[in-house]
Amino acid sequence: MLKGPKTAVPADPNLDLNAPLAGPRRALYRRWRAQRFAELVGQDPIVNTLRRAVATGRIVHAYLFVGPRGTGKTSTARILAKAINCLERGDDGEPCDRCAACVAIRDGRAMDVIEIDAASHGLVEDARDLVMRASTAPSDLRRRVYIIDEVHMLSPHAFNALLKLIEEPPDHVVFILATTDTHRVPPTIISRTQRYDFRRLATDVIAAKLTRITSAEGVQADPAALDLIARLADGGMRDAESLLDQVMSYAGDQVAVDSVRDAVGLADEEAIAGLLDALVSGEAPGALQRIADLSDAGRDLGQVAQQLEGEGRRRLLAAPTDPALARRLATILRTASEAGTTGARDGRARLQLELLAVDSATQPLAAAAVVAPAELAASAPRPVPATPPTGNPPQASPPPASPRPATQRLATPIPAVATESKTADSAPNTPPNGVRPTLAEVRSRWGEVVERAHPVVKPLIKECRPYELDGIRLTLAFPEGREFMRGLIAGRARSIEDLLGDMFGGAWSVEAVAASVDLEPLTIEQAISPNESPEAAALLQRTLEITGGQLVDAPEVR
Ligand SMILES: [Zn+2]
Repeated sequence: MLKGPKTAVPADPNLDLNAPLAGPRRALYRRWRAQRFAELVGQDPIVNTLRRAVATGRIVHAYLFVGPRGTGKTSTARILAKAINCLERGDDGEPCDRCAACVAIRDGRAMDVIEIDAASHGLVEDARDLVMRASTAPSDLRRRVYIIDEVHMLSPHAFNALLKLIEEPPDHVVFILATTDTHRVPPTIISRTQRYDFRRLATDVIAAKLTRITSAEGVQADPAALDLIARLADGGMRDAESLLDQVMSYAGDQVAVDSVRDAVGLADEEAIAGLLDALVSGEAPGALQRIADLSDAGRDLGQVAQQLEGEGRRRLLAAPTDPALARRLATILRTASEAGTTGARDGRARLQLELLAVDSATQPLAAAAVVAPAELAASAPRPVPATPPTGNPPQASPPPASPRPATQRLATPIPAVATESKTADSAPNTPPNGVRPTLAEVRSRWGEVVERAHPVVKPLIKECRPYELDGIRLTLAFPEGREFMRGLIAGRARSIEDLLGDMFGGAWSVEAVAASVDLEPLTIEQAISPNESPEAAALLQRTLEITGGQLVDAPEVR
């Protein structure tokens, strides 16, 4: 048998007493909506002020409730409507929740409490009706109360009607306007209301209510699980209650931390912290392994990226005195944030996280990427730092004409691939039809290859240089010490091969080897061409300051 809490299980306005008991369960947040001021949690200053106003008879004609969703604006509005009309109100301004007026309002039957959701209709047609009806006397209550939710969604016409009413309100009318976005409410309206700002609820306040709910519902809940739900709800009680509902329908009457995580695809915090540790310290293999483990465990990697962002933000706020760490965290945050939104949507979160792991091992490159060197390198005169391993010099001339203008810009010679030759026979092969490109040609157009690569392949191959061409087999060199890149490139080889086929024709086979790839540091003078835009130069200058003056030549980085 369920036992109601001391504050009484609220009767639900939409509860149909004649409905069969086996009918669908009503949403928790509806059943647990506060019915009296004392049941409202987390908004004490507002509640105290309103109660006092009611108790002393200082009711104004228009209230404006501002705050994030799920923080109790509508519940407070209904309780205020009750308090204004209660027939047995206490001296403390609290409605009795038992008299005819209170019950009618609670059950949604009161003719004189009119709730309008401006988000669902802009009140265009109703504006005139609103004015007409507002002037007539209330039929069953002392005062007629209009509760207008999401008031910022009203049409201009409706705002005008509302403004007229608020300017000269009939004595028997009270307006309670609620909004999540005051910037879209005309100042003329705002200035005629008494404004209350609802705060996001503290995690412990939310958790305490969830505890009351679960114990009353006969559900065994781990306090840590309720705390996790409260944190996930980010200050919104309704979101917390909905999430608890979801977990309860998933886990039955045993709510544990794992059931919360499973219900929303969350990874546990140690896994997230471990992944972030690996990213911060540049341990790419460890980070990649953790990503694979999370994926194998069925975690939603878009969700993982969001958790990573949350954890990264916490650490960033805790480490403002360590500029190197802060820079690192900021880079991770940016990618995690993107992977958490776009990545979650198109299923690429895993690859974005993997690429973040790769980048974490190459901080100078990651820093250079911030300035979009593709733009800066476009017309910059850049010395060819070294000769390629074979006798084929890189082509300094533009590549064959391309319909894409970006191609021309990216045709600057790429830096040396390796300072020592691996084999002497890496001369261009003679392809069957005689039109296969030479290694030098592939190399000279490598910037274009990177530019045209699939967005998720791009960051990976930007670090590689064409190293050897043997028939259809192109060997890409990646810097020594990053052996993990071999597997990553192997996993995307098909995409790279298809691209090479598109650009150079014929079939291709791509593999990767580690080699000493020199990425020549650039000075600012070398990096910025005379006709560079001042904005780009300033951006580069700032980046050089941040990174301590080292910019790695990565012309294809995007
Ligand atoms: Zn009452």
